[in-house]
Amino acid sequence: MYKEWGCGEIGIDQEKNEITIAGWVDSWRDHGSLLFIDLRDSTGTVQVVFDKSKSNSNHQIASSFRAEWVVQIKGIVEKRIEGAENPNISTGYIEVHATEINVLNESKTPPFEVNSENIDETTRLRYRFLDLRSSRMQNNIRLRNDVILSICNFLNDKNFVHIETPILIKSTPEGARDYIVPSRVHPGEFYALPQSPQQIKQMLMTSGFEKYYQIAKCFRDEDLRADRQPEHTQLDFEMSFVHQEDVLANCEDLYHFLSKKYQSKDITYPFPRITYKEAIEKYGTDKPDTRFSLELKNLNDVLGGTEFRVFNNTLESGGSIKGISLKNSDSIKRSYIDELNNFVIEMGGGGVIPISLDNVEDISKLDIKDVKSPIAKFLSAENVIEIFSIFGASESDIIFISAGENDKVNECLGSLRNKLAKDLELIDENKINFLFVTNFPLFEFDKESGQWLAMHHVFSSPTKETEEFMDSDPSKVIGNLFDLVCNGVELGSGSIRIHNRKTQEKVFSIIGYSKSEVEDRFGPLLESFEYGAPPHGGMGLGIDRLVALFSNEESIRDVISFPKTQSASDLLWGAPSLIEEKQKKELNIKSINQEKDKN
Ligand code: ASP
Repeated sequence: MYKEWGCGEIGIDQEKNEITIAGWVDSWRDHGSLLFIDLRDSTGTVQVVFDKSKSNSNHQIASSFRAEWVVQIKGIVEKRIEGAENPNISTGYIEVHATEINVLNESKTPPFEVNSENIDETTRLRYRFLDLRSSRMQNNIRLRNDVILSICNFLNDKNFVHIETPILIKSTPEGARDYIVPSRVHPGEFYALPQSPQQIKQMLMTSGFEKYYQIAKCFRDEDLRADRQPEHTQLDFEMSFVHQEDVLANCEDLYHFLSKKYQSKDITYPFPRITYKEAIEKYGTDKPDTRFSLELKNLNDVLGGTEFRVFNNTLESGGSIKGISLKNSDSIKRSYIDELNNFVIEMGGGGVIPISLDNVEDISKLDIKDVKSPIAKFLSAENVIEIFSIFGASESDIIFISAGENDKVNECLGSLRNKLAKDLELIDENKINFLFVTNFPLFEFDKESGQWLAMHHVFSSPTKETEEFMDSDPSKVIGNLFDLVCNGVELGSGSIRIHNRKTQEKVFSIIGYSKSEVEDRFGPLLESFEYGAPPHGGMGLGIDRLVALFSNEESIRDVISFPKTQSASDLLWGAPSLIEEKQKKELNIKSINQEKDKN
């Protein structure tokens, strides 16, 4: 080995010992006859001293070191002189007095200082091999390793079996587009990369494994939103002979264990379960951030009977009037109310109407003249008192009201809720609030195509109580399906699956798959159902997002070794890229875009 110790491992215990270390030159300070180098390796940094009076030649060689050179150093560990200690690093009480040096490799001047902040992300991704040397990225990637190991240990202890499933599979799109791989051996035919191992893990239940898991790579060719990657890592697990609560409990125990291990924040436990309907009603979204309150309330009954035409029209066309109440109207400026109104309008909503009170001490004696609102003239004092009482609001609060089509109002107020919390710093950053959202509808109607779609995926089972509506009204069918949400972010989803052919075929027919399509894409799974498939269920949970949460990183790119950009490009390796004519020929591929090929 080139070294006996890691740079960050040396301490006062080694005082007076001669040691050999090796690593990268992080920084240096030239104090004339003394030259100080911080040497970095994967364990940390240590200060190395070159004293001209002891070895002129070593001092001279060390003077030529530049950032990121790779060097090996032999030296004696000495206590730092008083006043020169650095309590912020583990090696801060010692330094290595160099006796021998050996340059193992030089480095070009790097495009950025490895540990400096605010380097633009494009440059970081272009030079990822350097960026990964930073302590931030070293910590994140090591944390990721640790989290994955903890997941594996936890599940292995519960008799789950890690089973790798194929990466080259038949194309059976699950919702997004598949990534396609041409076959050379079968000209004109293609494999797909799995969007998740869904059908295969279900088949493993029929194969008798009962408890499966996998740290699985999932590939989805979709237009990338802010925090998506074309390939992501998922904890995929499946269990046989279980009810929904058993699957939730497994996830809850694991995530509670992980959070306690990797976070010092307050964690809700047990994780609350709320239904999809309740989530939408209270928070306007199925991914509520429950670290703050600001719950939405329905105001149809109070405001439906007023003279304000917009409200009446809304209710006549089946829409709703809802609101949010905020403490301390005095701190809310007119310009901020305009900003909120524009925010909602930009989302396609009808805007927000504020209602507040002007120096009212006792709301029960409210005079309508003291109500500040663009719709005050349409309201009675009783209306306003009732609105404030619905929210449990006090005289100094301000209420924002929005009306319109149900889904739009919920969407707008749900986003407004998040915006208010962020802008006004109402989020308790010391909390990790997990919750399960359950009872999702099994189907949603796609207005564009005029078709029913599976809300999550086609394999989730309907609840016993609502299965009968599959024929008459699919909108009423509730699925045994659920999401794990944390601080307003969806961390994963799962369901109790269908395990018989008849029900599965019924779901396919509702979403309009033809018999041949079903046979082609799902034939083997349906066939396996006919050979004693046990009742089963499971989940898929994003590991990138979880590690980002534990490492307090906003972006999942900061916890992935070689991530792609938002336009699915790898800036370091230059993928995707054109391939050689010869490769195309072998694969029986002809590109339509000949011009691009020629370039
Ligand atoms: N396969 C699903 C997904 O990737 C998760 C599951 O239902 O297990 O979203």
